[in-house]
Order: sequence, then C-alpha cells, then structure tokens
Amino acid sequence: MTADLEIGLYIFMLAAFLGYHLISGVPPLLHTPLMSATNAMSGISLIGSLVVAGADYGAWSTIFGFIAVTCSATNVVGGFLITDRMLKMFKSERDRSNEVRRSPLRRRSLLFCIVIAVLLLLLLYGVVKRRNSAGIIDAAQALKFFYIVSAGLFILGLKGLSSPKFARKGMFLAEFGMGMAVAGTLFHHDIVTYEWIIAGLAIGAIIGGAMGLWIPMTAVPQRTALSHSLGALAATLIGISEYLRHGSGLDKVLMTAIGLEVVIGGLTTTGSLMAAGKLQGLLPGVPITYKGQNSSNIGLLTVVLGSLIYLIFVPSAGAIFFLMAGLALLFGFLLVIPIGAADMPVVISLLNSYAGLADAAMGFVLMNKIQIITGSLDGTSGFLLSLLMCRAMNRSAWNVLFGAFGKVEQAPSGPAAGYERAVLRIMTDEVPALLESCRSVIIVPGYGMAVAQAQHAVADLANLLSKRGLDVKYAIHPVAGRMPGHMNVLLAEANVPYDRLFELERINPYFAEADLVLIVGANDVTNPAAKHDKTSPLYGMPILEVEHARAIIVLKRSMRPGFAGVENELYYNPRCMMLFGDAKGSLTKLLAVLK
Ligand code: NAP
Repeated sequence: MTADLEIGLYIFMLAAFLGYHLISGVPPLLHTPLMSATNAMSGISLIGSLVVAGADYGAWSTIFGFIAVTCSATNVVGGFLITDRMLKMFKSERDRSNEVRRSPLRRRSLLFCIVIAVLLLLLLYGVVKRRNSAGIIDAAQALKFFYIVSAGLFILGLKGLSSPKFARKGMFLAEFGMGMAVAGTLFHHDIVTYEWIIAGLAIGAIIGGAMGLWIPMTAVPQRTALSHSLGALAATLIGISEYLRHGSGLDKVLMTAIGLEVVIGGLTTTGSLMAAGKLQGLLPGVPITYKGQNSSNIGLLTVVLGSLIYLIFVPSAGAIFFLMAGLALLFGFLLVIPIGAADMPVVISLLNSYAGLADAAMGFVLMNKIQIITGSLDGTSGFLLSLLMCRAMNRSAWNVLFGAFGKVEQAPSGPAAGYERAVLRIMTDEVPALLESCRSVIIVPGYGMAVAQAQHAVADLANLLSKRGLDVKYAIHPVAGRMPGHMNVLLAEANVPYDRLFELERINPYFAEADLVLIVGANDVTNPAAKHDKTSPLYGMPILEVEHARAIIVLKRSMRPGFAGVENELYYNPRCMMLFGDAKGSLTKLLAVLK
C-alpha cells in the first residue's frame, strides 16, 4: 500500500465520521436544502475534470474531460443557486419584522470573502517568495493550500446548515471554497490548454444557472436526481479516460479505484436519470415488475463485480472493462424501474450517496484529497437521509428498493369512490360558523397541498385567523409530502416564518388542546391505524395525533387513499368532517367567505 493511498483511506473514513456528525445535526426543516447543497459540493468533481480536459492526455481524455467539466459546472452553479433560493425563503417571525432594517447578507458576506481572499493572497505570496529565494516556484504547493482552505470551508458550510439562522452564511463559505478550489486548479501543472475548459465552464454555467434560477420549488426532486446523474456521468467518463491513459500499466490499487468509479458512477448515471424521468412524469411512475426481477438483477450485479475483480488482476482486458461499464449502466436502469415514483425520494437520497462514493473513488484515482473528503461527506449525507426517511416511513431500505411499493390498482374516481361507509361532510360556507367558537387552530399540510399548490392560500388563511386573535400553529410530519422537508420549503416559499412550524414530537401534545385541526391534503401521516393495526403498512410509523382535537376538517378531493394505498380510519371519526375539493379551490372560497 502506498503512503498516498493510506492517507487517502484515513481521510475518507474521518470525513465520513465528520459527515455523520454534521448531517445528524441538520434539522428536518433544512433537509431539502441539505440535499441540493451536498449535490452542489459534490460538483467538486469539476477540479479533476478540469485537469483531464486541459492536460495533454490524448484526444479521448480531452473529449471526456470537456463533457465532465460541463456536467460538473452545471451541478456547482445550479446546486448553489437553488440552495440559496431555498435558504433565502426560510425566515423567522423576527427576521420578517426586521427585514427592512437589516443590512443585506450579501454585502456582509462579500466583505468577509474579500478579507479571506486578501489573507490568502498574502499567504500565497509568502509561500512563493520563500520558494523563490530558494530558487524553486512550486505551484503544486500553493494549490495544496487552496485545497486545504476549501475543505475547511466546505465543512463550515455543512455545519451552517444546523440552523436556518446560519445556513446561508455557511453556504456562502462553501461557495467561496468551491471558487478557490476551481481557481487554484486552473494553475495545475498538467494543464496545457484552456479552450475546452472555458467552453465546458461556460456551457455548464449557463445550463446550471438557468436550472438554479428558474426551476420551480416543486421540481426540486427531479432537478436533484438529474444533477446526480450529471455528477456520476462526469466521474464515469474521467474513470474511462484514466483507464485509456494508463492502459495495461495500471497497478491493482489504481485499477480498483478506476473500476469502482466507473461501476458506481455508471449505475448512478442511469438510475438517477430514470428517477428524474419518473418524477417529471416523462416515464410511467408505477413500479414496473416482472418475474425473476430481483434474481436477474443480482445476477447482473455479480457479473459486474466479477468483471471488476478480473480486471484488477488483468488490467489489460479492455473488452471486459467496457463490458463492465456497459453492464453497470444497464444495472442502474434495471435497479430503478421496479421502484414507484412515490418512493423516489429515498432512491434519490441513496443515489446521492452513490454519487458521493463515485466522487471519492475519482479522488483516489487522481489522488486528490479534497475530492475524497467531499465525496465521503456527500456519500454519508445521502445514506443518512435515506435511513432517516425509511425510519420515518417505518420501511426498510430493502423494502423500498425491492418491494415495488406503491404498485396499487388504479383507484376509482369520484368523491366517495371505493369506500361505502358514510363520512360526515362539511361545506365551505359552514366553516366560518365553526371557526367562530375556536381559539386555537392547528394546520396539518401534506402532499395534497403540494399538488394543489395551496401553500399561499394556507398562509393567507393562517394570517387572517391570527389577525382575528386565534392561536395558529402548523404541524409538520417528517415525511409529509414526497421529499424530506417538503412542507417546510413550500411554506417558506409562502413566507410562513419557520418558528411557527412544529415538528411531530413538539406538536402532538397540543392536539388535545386544539379546537380545530385543518388537514390540507395530508392523509397517511394522520392515520391512527399506524398505532394499533398490525396489518396496516403504516403500522409503527409515528403519526400526528390529530384525532385528539375537538374538531377536524380534512381538505381533499375524494376518499382515495394516499401514498400507502390504505383507507384512513380518521375519516370515520365522529369529530372529523370532509371538505371535498381541490385544496387551493376550497381555501380560496373559504377565504372569500371569511373576508
Ligand atoms: P399522502 O398520504 O400521500 O396523501 C396525500 C393526499 O392528498 C391524498 O389522499 C390525496 O387525496 C390528497 N390530494 C392530492 N391532490 C390534492 C389536491 N389537489 N387537493 C386536495 N387534496 C389533494 O400524503 P401525506 O399525508 O403527506 O403522507 C406522505 C406519504 O408519502 C407518507 O406515506 C410517506 O411515507 C410517503 N413518502 C414521503 C417521503 C418524504 O420524504 N416526505 C418520501 C417517500 C414517501 P385525493 O386524491 O382524494 O385528493
């Protein structure tokens, strides 16, 4: 084992532990920004891509490097822009009232960055001067300083996400760290030409900028999936380029790293592309299953891993290398087709983890320590988020990946379709009379609020009720909606201060004191069967205990079930009333009646 590999492995492990510690400190409120922030940071594959695109490693390397620069630059620019857009929306009650008086964050951050940049230039000047006096100018040494500072800034960036108060500042540090790493790499001694680098950076910045600025918040999951695909494609191409460059002269360690980079990168590329397609509705969202699916997938994976092992001993077997790369791409595709669109957030998180691992493998191939660190942080973040989601849904990762969950028969349409038992109904114009006698209201948003885009109407209603002296709280379940922190992002978009949002453990004791619970498009997260019905797929999932409130109104279009495909017994509770219709339409009508 070489000293570099030994150090690399230590760094990888320590970064994983640090990542675990930092990411466990991120509140669920910020889980969606966390996903896009780690995604942007994993764009650090850009620095390896820059070297391959600009060095004289051969025509194929230049082409692959150029594509990798374009993909990674898209991720960096798009990822940071969309993270900033999200974080800008998270405001506390105090922030909102102080908004006019506060100096803009950007101005202060810019000042801070200028100070850091000046300090750094002084440091570099000192290094170069010292070397000059000894007769050597060592650009590689200067680059190492840049990378060390960048790694520190990335870690501070993630740490900032532990509170909405510091999240934007933290991300600004991470952006600055990325800028430094990229700028420093441009002086890499292997780079001899800049045409392809400039072209790749420009195209990536335009595509990433457009994605980051204009993509609606509701499309964040598919954008994240697409970015994982681009990042993984960059890693795969750099792996192939390094294989072509070194040819049969590869030692076992380098071949293992290249093999892992290509296999993990390849399956993440196609898997993430499928996930993005399903979420965007371009591909059927239902799980596609066939007989012997799991065993054939396991068989395929065995062939891929077998080829990798063979290559470690016979690196000159080029045909096997390309077969392995092709099968890895096929495996990613086959891995995701049996998974329903609704399970995609868990899959996206897992693929985030794989993209991080591909990045770390690229770090080992190029012996670039900052890539090992960010790859490891990204890998841990994705893995931890997947576990948190599975735990909150009371599902195992195995069941998500291989269970074809969500393959429910097409539900019949119409308000009461499918369920014969009677429920109590309420009309919009009857609600104001009920509100007259209320002093406290808890709003429970769910996936239906996202579908109806009703977050602004929800916020308007809450503001109106607050103005009339009612105590209004929002109850946020960790897996309400379809991605971690989904409700938080939507409500932040509607300018709801985050300190009005109460997480599950905090809000549950309040339900017994609430006069009214207004459920806006939430279903599974309120189903009391999760507490006692062992046959229910929801059994064991902690739920919002809305049934304890004095009165409950449910806004949904019909009696159709939610994600888990099971009937909600709450709807037959004598204190529960159904207000059928599109959530936005019903709320707009209610607001008009109230006003
Ligand atoms: P849900 O159980 O899926 O229910 C959403 C409800 O919204 C549906 O019953 C639907 O009923 C209603 N709806 C849809 N469009 C609507 C509209 N335009 N207006 C009004 N209502 C509308 O949602 P949830 O309670 O938020 O629970 C989330 C589920 O997703 C959980 O089972 C969770 O495990 C799962 N999940 C979450 C995540 C995550 O990270 N958040 C990830 C993967 C899976 P109608 O069709 O009758 O209107």
